[in-house]
Amino acid sequence: MNQWDVLVIGGGHAGAEAAALSARMGARTLLVTQRLDTIGQMSCNPAIGGIAKGTVVREVDALGGIMGRATDLARIQFRMLNRSKGPAVWSPRAQCDRVLYRRAVRTLLDERPGLTIVEATVAGFLLEGGAVIGVRTSDGSELRARAVVVTAGTFLRGRIHVGLAPEVPAGRAGDAPSVEMAQSLEALGLEVGRFKTGTPPRIDGCSVAFDALVRQDGDEGRYWFSSHVRAIHPEQRPCWLTWTSEATHALISESLAASALYGGAISGRGPRYCPSVEDKVVKFPHAARHQVFLEPEGLDTDEMYVNGLSTSLPAEVQLAFLRTVPGLERVEMTRAGYAIEYDYFPPTQLERTLASKAVRGLFLAGQVNGTTGYEEAAAQGAVAGLNAAAHALGREPVVFSRAESYCGLLVDDLVTRGTDEPYRLFTSRAEYRLLLRQDNALRRMIAPALRLGLFNDTEAAASERRLKREDELLQLAERTSVTLAADHSEFGAAPSVTQRVAQWARRPEVPLVEALAAAGVLEENEEAVHWADVELKYEGYIARERRSAARLAEMEELELPAGLEFERIDGVSREAREKLATVRPRTLGQAGRVPGVTAADLQRVAHAVVRGRVSRETLGESIVG
Ligand code: FAD
Repeated sequence: MNQWDVLVIGGGHAGAEAAALSARMGARTLLVTQRLDTIGQMSCNPAIGGIAKGTVVREVDALGGIMGRATDLARIQFRMLNRSKGPAVWSPRAQCDRVLYRRAVRTLLDERPGLTIVEATVAGFLLEGGAVIGVRTSDGSELRARAVVVTAGTFLRGRIHVGLAPEVPAGRAGDAPSVEMAQSLEALGLEVGRFKTGTPPRIDGCSVAFDALVRQDGDEGRYWFSSHVRAIHPEQRPCWLTWTSEATHALISESLAASALYGGAISGRGPRYCPSVEDKVVKFPHAARHQVFLEPEGLDTDEMYVNGLSTSLPAEVQLAFLRTVPGLERVEMTRAGYAIEYDYFPPTQLERTLASKAVRGLFLAGQVNGTTGYEEAAAQGAVAGLNAAAHALGREPVVFSRAESYCGLLVDDLVTRGTDEPYRLFTSRAEYRLLLRQDNALRRMIAPALRLGLFNDTEAAASERRLKREDELLQLAERTSVTLAADHSEFGAAPSVTQRVAQWARRPEVPLVEALAAAGVLEENEEAVHWADVELKYEGYIARERRSAARLAEMEELELPAGLEFERIDGVSREAREKLATVRPRTLGQAGRVPGVTAADLQRVAHAVVRGRVSRETLGESIVG
C-alpha cells in the first residue's frame, strides 16, 4: 500500500512535529527520512528552549507535539531564564542528552497511531494537474499522498566548509546532502536562496581544567515542558562558564584569511544572532572577552559542546585558539567546528498554512523556509502538519493568529515579511508579550486542539482538569482573606491589614504562594500557583493587551479577496502595489506587515475591499479595487 493522506519528508525537528500532528488529525501519515537512526538529531547544540523558544516548545506540546515530551525525557540540566525579570517573561531552557533526545523522539513517533516511518531518500515529486500527488525516491519507488510536507533542513545542496579546504557536499557532518530533491523543488518553480550557519568544535571533557571555570548548576525546582505527561528526568549535570582571552582574539584576527567565512569561500547569509567567533572578534574589536559555555553532550560521554565559539577556521587554528581559553590550555578537540551553506525557499512564497502558493498540496516547514533553530522548525512543522492533514482530509485550514501564539506570529512574520537572514524568534517580535507566556500555552492552544480532535479522551480530560484547577485557585485567592503586616515585611506582624489574598498578591513583592500559605492554603500545584500569580500581578497590563489584541483582530482579520488586483487600487504607492502584488496577503493585518506598506496604503486597500463588497452585493460586480 503506498497511498497516504500526508507524506512528510525529513525526520528532523520540523518533520517530527509535522508527522505527529498530521497523524493526530486522523490523516494516514508517512514519514520518509534519509536515515532512521538520525530521527530527532540535534545538528548543533544539545539544548532546547530559551527566550521565546521555550514558549514555542510549550505551545507545540500543548497541541500534542513531540518536542516538549522528548525534552523532559532527555534533559540533563534545566534553567528558567529571565527569573530576575518577573514571571511574565520567564523562559524555560533545557540541556539535553543528545542520544536520549533522539531516542525519545523516535519512540514518541513510533508510538503514534496512524503514522508509518520509512527510510528512503526523496529525489523528486509526482505531479498531476499542477498538484503534488506524491514523491519518487532515489531507488525509483513511488509513494503517493494527497499532501507532501518538505522539511529537509540544511540538507538541500548543503556544502560544509572548514577553513579554505575544498568544500564538502553534506547535509550536516556525517550526512549526505539532498541534491536531486533540491533540483526538483527548483524545477517546480520555487524561488531559491542560499543561507549559511555554523557550529563550534566539540572537546573532550577529560582534558578540561574545571577548577578554573565557573560551575553552573541547573534549577532545583520542578518543571516539565509537557503539559500532558510527567516524565521522570534523567540525572542532572552542570554546565561550565569561561571566557575568551586577548590571546584568543589575536589568534583569530591573524587567521581570518583562512576562515571560510572571511576568506570568501561562503557567500550565503548567516544568523546575525548566532555569530561565529570570527564575527565577534571583527565586529566587537574592543570587547576584552566573550563568554564560552561548556555544555555536556550527554550522560555517557565526556564530550562537551563549546557554546560561543562557532567557527569555520581550519581545524588546527580551532585547536590553537581553544587552548588560549582559560581552563582549556590542555584541551583535546574531538570534532572541529564547521560552517554549512544550503538552499532555502523565501517564505513569502507560502500561504499562512505553509502551503506553497505555486504548487497545490505542497507544504514547506523548518530551516527550508529560512529559519534557524530547532524550536522555530518545530513550530512550523506543527502548522504544516496540521494543514497538510486538513488539506488531505478536506477540512478547514488551521491558522493561528499573532496574538494567540508564537506559532502564529512566526508563520505570519515569514509569509508576510519574508527574511533576508536566518530568522530566529525573539520576544520582541511579539506585539502582545504578556499574552504569549510559557505558563499559559495550554490555555491558549486547548481550544484549537480540542476543535481539531488532537487529544485522546484521557489527554482532553487531564488538560481541562489542569486549567480548571488554575481557575479555582484564582477564585480561591479572590474569596479568601488574610491578615498580614501592612508593610508585608513580616507576615502576621502588627500593624496589620486584612484583605483578600488576591489583593496581597497583586503587590509585586508578595508572592501568591506566600499569601496563600499565610491564609492556610498549601497549594502543591506549582504551575497553577505560578499562572495565577502572573494573572494577578499583571492583571491591568494583561487586560489592556487583550483589549488591544481584540480591537486589532477585527481589522487584522478583514479578508482580502483572492483575486484583488492591488496594482489597480487608486492611491496606493507604487512600492506598496508591487510588494502587495508579490506577497498577496490574505488579510488586511498581513498587508500591514508587508515592508514598505504605509498606513495610508492600508486605508486605501481597506476602502477598496469594502467598496468592492458593497458593489458586489448591490450590483453583482466583481472586486477590482
Ligand atoms: P533538520 O533538523 O536539518 O532535519 C532535516 C531532515 O530532513 C533530516 O532528518 C534529513 O535526513 C532529512 N532529509 C533531507 N533531505 C531528505 C531527502 N531528500 N529525503 C528524505 N529525507 C531527507 N540552530 C540554532 O538555533 N543555532 C545554531 O547555532 C545552529 N547552528 C547550526 C549549525 C549547523 C552546522 C547546522 C547543520 C544547523 C544549525 N542550526 C542551528 C540549525 C538547526 O539545526 C536547525 O534549525 C534545525 O535542525 C532545523 O530543523 P529541520 O527539521 O528544519 O531540519
